[in-house]
Amino acid sequence: MPRPRRTRVIVAANQKGGVGKTTSTVNIAVGLVQLGQRVLVIDLDPQGNASTALNVDHLQGTPGTYELLVDGTPVEDLVVPAPDLPGLDVIPATIDLAGAEIELVRVEGREGRLKRALSQDQRVGETADDRWDYVLIDCPPSLGLLTINALVAGAEVMIPIQAEYYALEGLGQLLKTVDMVRAHLNRDLSVSTILITMYDARTRLAAGVADEVREHFGDQVLRTYIPRSVRVSEAPSYGQTVMTYDPGSPGALSYLEAAREIAQKGSGR
Ligand code: ADP
Ligand code: MG
Repeated sequence: MPRPRRTRVIVAANQKGGVGKTTSTVNIAVGLVQLGQRVLVIDLDPQGNASTALNVDHLQGTPGTYELLVDGTPVEDLVVPAPDLPGLDVIPATIDLAGAEIELVRVEGREGRLKRALSQDQRVGETADDRWDYVLIDCPPSLGLLTINALVAGAEVMIPIQAEYYALEGLGQLLKTVDMVRAHLNRDLSVSTILITMYDARTRLAAGVADEVREHFGDQVLRTYIPRSVRVSEAPSYGQTVMTYDPGSPGALSYLEAAREIAQKGSGR
């Protein structure tokens, strides 16, 4: 898989909780690494679930995205390599990040803190040989300042959608936020990827939801659906992603395929 010409910054966003943002971020990140790419995962959720899944320390007080956003600590001082996953780096999130949303309100340029930090890093861009090919940002389930920072810093939005009742409810709000950010803060932003998760092929409901999503979003929807699978959900309790926990399982194979699609779709970037 060829590397993109410059770092692609992809934001996993959906203000709905439990739709698979974190699961998709970490598994696609590992999938991209398995395809030979260098990847940085930025955990922007105070819950720190992405940090947990990637087995990276995120006890309160561990330097991470809070320090980046609030103190302006440079990216290079915060990046930690994911254990046993060469090519994957992480900026963890601790519960401290829960306060950032409020503390940032008084800070000048509060929406652009993450963008600024990334643009100052050597490994983001097109020149450095050891640049990250992908920066994946895992957002919290809200459309507050943390998510806004991600949308300002990234060029691509990936929306995971759970193949369930009410899947499309609330999406209008998210798309409006993306439009607002594009109009005022980041002209480069677009929704590049819709990923259908927790797909249960045995139900008509899942197929119906997938069809409806495809009608709305067309080519933005990845061909690969992520199946509902216990292996996917149990991997984090072993400090792993399903990609290493059970690489031959349907969930892992689907995430690898999704990673491949994302890499191929963006090959012109
Ligand atoms: P979000 O980050 O959007 O809140 P998560 O990625 O944390 O969502 O997923 C919510 C829950 O669903 C988690 O417990 C996760 O393990 C589980 N889950 C996610 N994807 C799958 C899947 N494909 N199959 C089974 N469980 C899944
Ligand atoms: Mg999450």
